Amino acid sequence: MDFTDFSCICEQIEGISGRLEMIDVIASVLPGLSDDELPVFVRFVMGRIFPDWSPLKLGIGPNLLYEAVGYVAGKKKEEVIAAVNETGDVGLAVERLLATKTQMSFFAESLTLTGVFSDFTRIATTDGSRSQREKMKIVRGLLGTAGPLDGRYLARLLLEELRIGVGEGNVRDAVAKAFSVDQTLVAHAYQAINDLGRVALLARQGETALRDVRIEPFHPVKMMLAQQGTITEMVGDHGAVAVEYKYDGTRFQFHKVGDDCRMYSRKLEEVTGAVPDVIEMLCAATGHDVILDGEVIAVKDGKPRPFQFVLRRFRRKHAVEEAIGRVELVPNVFDIMYLDGETLIDRPFTERRAILETVLSGYVAPQWVGDDIPALEKIYQEALDAGHEGVMVKVPGAAYTPGVRGRNWIKVKPAVDTIDLAVVGAEWGEGRRAHIFGSFLLACQDEGVLLPVGKVATGFSDDQLAAFYAALKDLVIAEKGKEVVFEPEIVFEVGYAEVQKSTNYTSGYALRFPRFVRLREDKGVAEVETVEGIAARYERQLKSL
Ligand code: AMP
Repeated sequence: MDFTDFSCICEQIEGISGRLEMIDVIASVLPGLSDDELPVFVRFVMGRIFPDWSPLKLGIGPNLLYEAVGYVAGKKKEEVIAAVNETGDVGLAVERLLATKTQMSFFAESLTLTGVFSDFTRIATTDGSRSQREKMKIVRGLLGTAGPLDGRYLARLLLEELRIGVGEGNVRDAVAKAFSVDQTLVAHAYQAINDLGRVALLARQGETALRDVRIEPFHPVKMMLAQQGTITEMVGDHGAVAVEYKYDGTRFQFHKVGDDCRMYSRKLEEVTGAVPDVIEMLCAATGHDVILDGEVIAVKDGKPRPFQFVLRRFRRKHAVEEAIGRVELVPNVFDIMYLDGETLIDRPFTERRAILETVLSGYVAPQWVGDDIPALEKIYQEALDAGHEGVMVKVPGAAYTPGVRGRNWIKVKPAVDTIDLAVVGAEWGEGRRAHIFGSFLLACQDEGVLLPVGKVATGFSDDQLAAFYAALKDLVIAEKGKEVVFEPEIVFEVGYAEVQKSTNYTSGYALRFPRFVRLREDKGVAEVETVEGIAARYERQLKSL
């Protein structure tokens, strides 16, 4: 494929606003591409150059690009910057400048998609003292050969911002459509191998190839993520759950094959060189080939230290030995995704955990399984007392889903900020909660006048909701549709993530992610937060941004 064909497709996509039409256009192109072109096209169309797992980075900043454009177009760098400011887009500016270019490449051959990719790979792999000059030479060469439209997309790709509105989801669906394979198999293969380009090649081979997908050591997979929630909700939804401490450190993924051990950060950057002590501990703790998931914490006299200490170690490139002496690190391993050639992500967590305990001697994070809420709450309290952030509550039957922030992992930690508000109304619940109140309208006060500031619907156990219904049903003074109004008498303490300005409530503010913490039996309605207090919280937030 010529790069110009790619550019024309990008231009076409840029003019489309509908998701389905966009998917159709991409899906129609994929089958005609060669095996070399297919992965490159799939990544380029999302504005990515290398597989997500790859450590390769282009590392081209606007400065270098503007200089190269200036050279090729026979303009000063200042003129290039002026054009970017005027058009508001580097791609359009380069397109305009290349239309007047003076330095034509001597061999004015056209660029090909794979040729551009191999130049990009050269850019990413040059290092040493002459690397900036080398990079500049390659970028000039590419721009010198490019036509104006090619220049638009080349420039944006060089800065890894294609801006044509194509995201991962669109490309996944286009791959499934192009090769008539199941979308969920495509999504699953992408989770395992972390490169949609290679997934497209497998999709071309068919569903069996997609199903056979395996994690590869040293190709880090995205981390599984957690949502916020409560122990009560999780036990209510799943019965017995697995509870672990939520460590206040840094996430890691550890890969080991034979004696080759490497560690990756949450962003999948390799940090092996910064933490040789941790590598040594884990390497010595197993004779197997593994991929492990865990959190490294800093400790002093056996007690956890704040996570800034871990960061100081993880970011270090020089004087590593000295840093090891100052900050002691300990890994806590809570999952295993790969063992001796076998991919484990689809096994239930209970099985992965059992495997983990047999293959790793030491460093396995303690875990409690049960459905006794008071007992689990006690572990949460112990976690806080021991200096951890809270607990993680995990569904025992769940697969490991890389990159997914789902409800199979729930983090429970004290709300960052809490606020006391009067309960002034409610809405009837739904489903099994239809006969009780499911969400509550909360108000702050302005010189004794109560002004609504939001609704809270999460953080309650069934028992709490039943008790609040019993206590509030006699305070109902008006009812309309699903909503009731109360004589204000009780006060809730709620946690929230952020105060926002809002026209939805008469206070002028709203709470983001409000969550019930407890009933303030010790407080009366006259003592709830004032509207000035909320305004001050809002201002404080702005300052800390
Ligand atoms: P957050 O960063 O608040 O979204 O919380 C999720 C993070 O908690 C994960 O990405 C891990 O870095 C960290 N974490 C600490 N302990 C655990 C654990 N036992 N299981 C999973 N994640 C944990």
